[in-house]
Amino acid sequence: GLLIEHVSKSFALKGERLPVLDDISFRVEPGEFVAIVGASGCGKSTLLRLLAGLDTEYEGRLQHDGKDIQGTDLNRGLVFQDHRLFPWLTVEQNIALSFTNTRVPAAERRERVAAEIARVGLDGFADAFPHQLSGGMSQRAAIARALVGKPDVLLLDEPLGALDALTRLRLQQELRRLWQEEGITMLMVTHDIDEAVYLADRIVVLDARPGRIRRVQEVALPHPRQRGQAGFVAIRD
Ligand code: ATP
Ligand code: MG
Repeated sequence: GLLIEHVSKSFALKGERLPVLDDISFRVEPGEFVAIVGASGCGKSTLLRLLAGLDTEYEGRLQHDGKDIQGTDLNRGLVFQDHRLFPWLTVEQNIALSFTNTRVPAAERRERVAAEIARVGLDGFADAFPHQLSGGMSQRAAIARALVGKPDVLLLDEPLGALDALTRLRLQQELRRLWQEEGITMLMVTHDIDEAVYLADRIVVLDARPGRIRRVQEVALPHPRQRGQAGFVAIRD
């Protein structure tokens, strides 16, 4: 699981400090699915970057399975808001990058890359370059790249926002299946409340100014584990 405790973060802007996160605390229990919603610019991506270990300047405590985020080799997968594929590498090569610095044998790498390509519906595009893909296809390749390392925790930054409705539904179901069957802990930023309610156990609502948690919403039953279709829950201020 993830522990976020009294975390504050500010950026330097024209010689001043711009506070972005202000004393954020919540947990994501192992195997839990938590969604983060909040206005544009409220610090959601910043928080995910901290949890991914990409930014190490913050106050407070961030832990993954009881160990500080920095310097742990615990397995986290990250899907960025924009796909961040390397343009000079094919889909297959981009996905296989996740095996850098691992001891996974070459044959198993090929097998797992092919399996993830199939999972996200990119069969036939293994040798394509990112500029030959649509935006949604690139995002699916990015999801495959995050999954191929079999992460314990998946950090998803608006992963499905750019997709068509049918692909989004399919990948929502795929994320739910992963979560149910493989026990991956999920933390997903989304602007889609229906999506958050459909997938998550809890929804963390961030306030725009000054980047505080406004509330943590427990998703009411019927829960996604018990039902087959998206529900709706009102989140009031
Ligand atoms: P969106 O929903 O639009 O993706 P967000 O909640 O993900 O928004 P962040 O990307 O986390 O928002 O940005 C939060 C704030 O931090 C913004 O005001 C942004 O300008 C600022 N910010 C983000 N990264 C930096 C940076 N590297 N340097 C300075 N300011 C930054
Ligand atoms: Mg963002």
